[in-house]
Amino acid sequence: MTIPNCLNCQSEYVYQDQEQLICPECGYEWNPEDKAKEAIITAKDANGTTLNSGDKITLAKDLKVKGSSMVMKVGTKAQIRSIVKGKDHQLDCKVDGVGEMMITAAFVKKA
Ligand SMILES: [Zn+2]
Repeated sequence: MTIPNCLNCQSEYVYQDQEQLICPECGYEWNPEDKAKEAIITAKDANGTTLNSGDKITLAKDLKVKGSSMVMKVGTKAQIRSIVKGKDHQLDCKVDGVGEMMITAAFVKKA
């Protein structure tokens, strides 16, 4: 795990003490797991695996590109840029050879 900058003062000198992260400059302490639960939206792929921003994925089925005749083939690689809340098209992805695309999490697999 990489240690983030201080949430309070952006100091780079944060260190970890058991569960807590502590900033020596302003004295702010926090538990990264609690913050992660609050801040990070995740989605589940076709296998029920949790997906996070930055994960590499492949398409689990052929997907039509909305508004075009293009089809993204099963196995096409992509990287998740961010995850948004919603029933479908939760993944803001950069797809190899296609570009930015919103994709439904249930139609991909974690690579
Ligand atoms: Zn600080």
